[in-house]
Amino acid sequence: MRLITAQNYRKAEFDKRLRYETNPVKKVTDELREVAVDMLEYMYSLNAIGLAANQVGLKIRLCVIDPAFMHGTKLPVVMFNPEYIEHGERMYTSPEGCLSLPDLGLEVPRFRNVKVRFTGLDNKEYIIKDDNSLLASVIQHEIDHLDGILMYDRVVEEVKVQFKDTIIRRER
Ligand SMILES: [Zn+2]
Repeated sequence: MRLITAQNYRKAEFDKRLRYETNPVKKVTDELREVAVDMLEYMYSLNAIGLAANQVGLKIRLCVIDPAFMHGTKLPVVMFNPEYIEHGERMYTSPEGCLSLPDLGLEVPRFRNVKVRFTGLDNKEYIIKDDNSLLASVIQHEIDHLDGILMYDRVVEEVKVQFKDTIIRRER
């Protein structure tokens, strides 16, 4: 498994695979279960708390998350076909990083509350709900990936300008 990262920050050009809208899964097969487990292992090996399939070049609507890993425990969630059932209107900004945008930290506006439906490894439907914690922003970050959206797209224009300056400085 190999991580896809953005190559040219300056022009905000991102690898096409990070822009794919992923395809929903009809049925969770053994093969897909293996992919999910590989993604989880890969995510942990990178010290990350979320990974979407298109970040490793797969056009599958699948992401794995584990915000608890930040606190040294493992409570992995594998989500096939995640979709919003509802989200609150209140927003907040949270500091985020992204494996595909190395060395970059951004304050990203997110909904405080989300409720999401997904299919689990056992082909059963689950609902995950979060208010006001890291989990909510991780879920939104990963669903965005699956829709070809990067955290970069969510920040206001002023921040994007700063972001480009930073990167230009780094390249010198
Ligand atoms: Zn990301």
